[in-house]
Amino acid sequence: MSKNIVLLGAGYGGISFLNTVLPHIPSDVRISVIDRLRHHTIKPEYYALASGSLNESKVKAAFPIHSQVEYIQDEIKEIQISFHKVICKEREVPFDQLIVALGCVDNYFNVPWAAEYAQSIQSFAKAMKTRKKIDELPSDSHVVIIGGGLSGVEFASDLREQHPELRITLLERSEEVLATLPDRIRKYVRQYLDDHMIEVLTNVSVTMIDNQAVYYGLERKTVLYDICVWTAGIMPNPISNPLLAYSNADRMNRIAVKENYELPYYNDIFVVGDCASSEFAPSAQLAHIQGKQLGDYFISVWKGSEYKAEPIKLKGVLGYLGKKTGFGLVGDNVLLGKVPNVIKSGVLWMHKHHMG
Ligand SMILES: Cc1cc2nc3c(=O)[nH]c(=O)nc-3n(C[C@H](O)[C@H](O)[C@H](O)COP(=O)(O)OP(=O)(O)OC[C@H]3O[C@@H](n4cnc5c(N)ncnc54)[C@H](O)[C@@H]3O)c2cc1C
Repeated sequence: MSKNIVLLGAGYGGISFLNTVLPHIPSDVRISVIDRLRHHTIKPEYYALASGSLNESKVKAAFPIHSQVEYIQDEIKEIQISFHKVICKEREVPFDQLIVALGCVDNYFNVPWAAEYAQSIQSFAKAMKTRKKIDELPSDSHVVIIGGGLSGVEFASDLREQHPELRITLLERSEEVLATLPDRIRKYVRQYLDDHMIEVLTNVSVTMIDNQAVYYGLERKTVLYDICVWTAGIMPNPISNPLLAYSNADRMNRIAVKENYELPYYNDIFVVGDCASSEFAPSAQLAHIQGKQLGDYFISVWKGSEYKAEPIKLKGVLGYLGKKTGFGLVGDNVLLGKVPNVIKSGVLWMHKHHMG
């Protein structure tokens, strides 16, 4: 009997799975890939879409073409596990085996009206909407970015380069931006932000957002904004929630999986990327490795060989500060200045040009 694999999401995890299995796919297996987009996109560059430094075409890459793979462009609404089907806006798609690689969405941590009033860079469409709003701003407008992690810092510094006329404020809940990175990086980045007139407010715990201000702290202090952008947290795509009935959630609500990425209590449903629990924080790097490992597992099943996952080793973190400089932690080595910027450009270029 032929097998019908349905892959939800053609992002980092999904495309890595596809690229791994396609050279080995048996003739009786078909893969249907469902994504709302017609292209793979380089999500780590969505901040640059929003700031205006990259055009749409620069963050898109063509899907791999194969006669046994069908791409369905549709909005996924629901996974019906018991009926073995996926409900999309335009159609229902049955599956024998399901791979969920749907990435993440913003986590607003129940901050009132954050979802209504804050802009986002977490999906392609939202990043484009944010860009349009920024382009329409009068010259002395105030952009408030909530969240001083990697994407908030990259967005703020790129926005400064693109829009020297804007006032930019970055709000961070911890004592310093990039709280999980070493002191040397934090100091370097903070100096860069100060030098480029990006105001940084730390120890700021946002309590509410309305149509003109961000509120924070017990005293309900406010920062008035023309646009505010939320980069303060993520959570797994809620479409994956029904899978939790057959698994457990980690502290980020990611779905626990077995070594082969299958649900612990349901066969033939697999999860990779930002939706899958891991000892590591979600990242493109992690999603890529998980997608590859899942592909290796499928190949081993098809060939009847044993599967043993290698322990995951991540290479490190790289961040841009505008187009010329950056920061990074590779192994124990701190990289500052031009080198991490060039390495990151190389990594993203390689990813984009080795897709098809
Ligand atoms: C601004 C920014 C900067 C980042 N920088 C870095 C970085 O420097 N390094 C790093 O390693 N990681 C970075 N990341 C994180 C990285 O992009 C993600 O961890 C990675 O993309 C996760 O891969 P994934 O396969 O789980 O999901 P994704 O790559 O997000 O893919 C999910 C796919 O599912 C599709 N999809 C989602 N919902 C639906 C639906 N309802 N219907 C149809 N299709 C749907 C999407 O269109 C997408 O193609 C960054 C993220 C952002 C937002």
